[in-house]
Amino acid sequence: MNKIPEEQIVVLIVDDDMAQRLLMRETLHDSRLVVEEAANGVEALAAFERFSPDLVLMDVKMPKMDGFTACSRMRKLAGGQDAVIVLVTGLEDFASIGRAFDAGATDFITKPVNWPLLSHRVRYLLRAGRAFRNLRQSERRLSIAQNIASLGNWDWDIDKNSIYWSPQMYRIFGLPAEESTATNEVFLERVHPDERESVTDLVRKALQAKKPYSIDYRITLPDGACRNVHEQADVVHDEEGNPVSMQGTVQDITERINTEEKIRFLAYYDGLTGLPNRQLFLEHFNQALFAAQRDGSKVALLYLDLDRFKRINDTLGHSAGDKLLKSISICLADSIRSSDIVAKACFPDKHGVTLSRLGGDEFTILLTRLAGEEHAGRVAQRILDLLSQPTRIADQEVYISGSIGITLYPSDGEDVDMLLRNADVAMYHAKENGRNSFQYFSEQMNQRTMEKLSIETDLKKALERNELLLYYQPQIDLQTGKLAGVEALVRWLHPRLGMVPPSMFIPIAEEAGLIVELGQWVLIEACRQAVRWQKAGFAPLRMGVNISSLQFKHQSLAALVGQVLQQTGLAAGCLELELTESAIMQNVSQVNDTLIELKELGVNLSVDDFGTGYSSMSYLKRFPLDTLKIDRSFVMDITTDANDAAIIKAIIALGKSLGLKTIAEGVETAEQLAFLQEQRCDEIQGFFISRPLPGLEVEQYLIDGKKFC
Ligand code: C2E
Ligand code: MG
Ligand code: MG
Repeated sequence: MNKIPEEQIVVLIVDDDMAQRLLMRETLHDSRLVVEEAANGVEALAAFERFSPDLVLMDVKMPKMDGFTACSRMRKLAGGQDAVIVLVTGLEDFASIGRAFDAGATDFITKPVNWPLLSHRVRYLLRAGRAFRNLRQSERRLSIAQNIASLGNWDWDIDKNSIYWSPQMYRIFGLPAEESTATNEVFLERVHPDERESVTDLVRKALQAKKPYSIDYRITLPDGACRNVHEQADVVHDEEGNPVSMQGTVQDITERINTEEKIRFLAYYDGLTGLPNRQLFLEHFNQALFAAQRDGSKVALLYLDLDRFKRINDTLGHSAGDKLLKSISICLADSIRSSDIVAKACFPDKHGVTLSRLGGDEFTILLTRLAGEEHAGRVAQRILDLLSQPTRIADQEVYISGSIGITLYPSDGEDVDMLLRNADVAMYHAKENGRNSFQYFSEQMNQRTMEKLSIETDLKKALERNELLLYYQPQIDLQTGKLAGVEALVRWLHPRLGMVPPSMFIPIAEEAGLIVELGQWVLIEACRQAVRWQKAGFAPLRMGVNISSLQFKHQSLAALVGQVLQQTGLAAGCLELELTESAIMQNVSQVNDTLIELKELGVNLSVDDFGTGYSSMSYLKRFPLDTLKIDRSFVMDITTDANDAAIIKAIIALGKSLGLKTIAEGVETAEQLAFLQEQRCDEIQGFFISRPLPGLEVEQYLIDGKKFC
């Protein structure tokens, strides 16, 4: 009996008069109605909570609690708002009717009850109540939906100039619904000042054109916060086509806009520096070229790569590297903003940005509407000057420089790809020219780069196809005038280009990392040759082999040399490794260990191209070296340039005092030889004696055992 089926309608009759209750029950008799009873206000409240009636028929005058009080309390119970409550007043006076409505009654009937009418009245009230409940429910649903969607609606009665705002409208505009009455003025006050005019304009045009509109604009809340909204509205007309009202919705789209901004940022900007990334740069670049093509103007691309940035990362750590990149991008942005040249020339991007970070330590600067090509160089120089100022990172003064390649549109390329590629080539040349400089691109550079690339690919095959061979250049003992040793010099017999000199391919092999494999081949081949000569009956000859600095870094050199000596059977004392001055003065503690290991094997160590790098005297003394090879550049002018003569004298004296043998390279004339002899240089090597020769031709020298000088 407690539970009432949902489709059934529950009526609660409240009266202290049992007869009256019975009469009512009889009158209302209907199979769809479930009738419950209560004898006073207190019971009525309990019954209300228990049965949740759809309709309450309640006498006003009752003991314990009267109908007015019970009614107003019922309204506060769960579901109390939705129930139809009819009070039965004994007195048909206005005061009682007024009290009934004040207490929240839906309707009232007077005693004596008109019984034949009662059931009709109840049915009518139930139907109205249901409609009312449905309306409230859909309003509630609408409000929830509007809340979820942050969507409000409004309705503007044009004639009366009155506006209705839904509760969510008030919430969006940050206004309390109770206090503020919506007016056009209140609304416009909230619209961002910059957009007021365009919003009013659009509404006016929509009214004139009698057409719907939609617009996004910003609003300012009373606390000063800025939000973005999307508004859609339409005009309602009367039969004659005159606008009578406008209705619209306003949706808060701030979150969406923020998310879109974030996505855009992630896609188009570099997270570390906040600069445009490669993607956005390419878009800017394309637009700039398009504009330049249209108005016949010039564009310059500056491609900046920091010099030896990797070293900063390696020595100070990646977070210091990141800090440096950030501070550099701020410095670049400042310099570009403050530079007259750039301000005049720069691409008028809506963010005012011409600077991008392509990744790593690479940046680009785009200059449009260039008045003259030289402007690009001025900007580049300005950037280099700014970069060269020290930066404080991780409590250290950090010095950095950059190399910049410049390409111009339209002369250096027609499209983004080509201009970028050529700027990269020019940047590379700036690096080769000693860094901290800029270079305009030229077609010649491109050819050199292409050549280099093809050499690199061919070189990889050269090793497999046995296209490499060794030549040997004699070294003469100036005291005996006889052959003391040879230097093995690699040659490449290119199938198409013929004999390629090492100056062409050794640097490429170093860059491409091929030098390790190449150097190993040279070492083995040179040792084999030395053994072959000994086996042929010639007196043991010292074999000089050039070692690249990369072999030092990438290989356990001593282990390799030990292994090669063992495999070929050459005595360690017959091998002399030529190490360049710059290679051994880098990373000295590691180098020292390797030199000691090599020395323990028994091989000779010489410093090649001595005088061209920076040698520290203390290291020269400390390292276990045997020979100094005086660079050809000093020998060349000894007979004409007093400075060079003085340098050679000093080097020979230094060698003597350190107990090192001296070999002068590149001796081409009898005068040079005489000078070196006079200075008591130990050995010489050069075209005057012989060019580097194939192994077979060296044998002639060995057979002859001839004196050269
Ligand atoms: P380097 O070790 O200083 O070799 C001496 C260079 O001077 C050789 O050039 C030699 O041909 C040249 N030369 C000798 N006497 C004269 C002269 O009187 N006048 C002139 N003008 N030049 C002379 P090359 O053979 O072209 O080698 C150039 C450089 O390539 C070498 O300089 C060396 O640094 C490098 N190299 C050659 N072979 C190898 C190798 O097997 N491994 C490594 N890592 N580097 C090598
Ligand atoms: Mg050498
Ligand atoms: Mg040399």
